[in-house]
Amino acid sequence: MGSRSVGRNAGLGAVGLRGPGAPLESTTSATLPVGSTLDRTDVPEYVFDHVMHHELLHKKHGIQWRGRRQHAHTSAFREEERRFEQYEEAAAFLNKLSAATG
Ligand SMILES: [Zn+2]
Repeated sequence: MGSRSVGRNAGLGAVGLRGPGAPLESTTSATLPVGSTLDRTDVPEYVFDHVMHHELLHKKHGIQWRGRRQHAHTSAFREEERRFEQYEEAAAFLNKLSAATG
């Protein structure tokens, strides 16, 4: 144990979900309800891990430009995102959460 250096107490800001270090989700059609919603809701750890994984993939893949449009969630991005072992559960949880919070 102890292999997780970043838990929920570390805050999502540590991986750039909020603030000046997180330009990606604000400039693209974000699918993750990031920010205060995750902070105050009882969110399973795998959901945080999934969000973190998602953000790390942004750092890895960067933004593709197609003409004047940005594509952060490319098909390659999505494919790799689904490799997260609890992707389905995390995605389902986030879908429910965003449906509940609008
Ligand atoms: Zn994203």
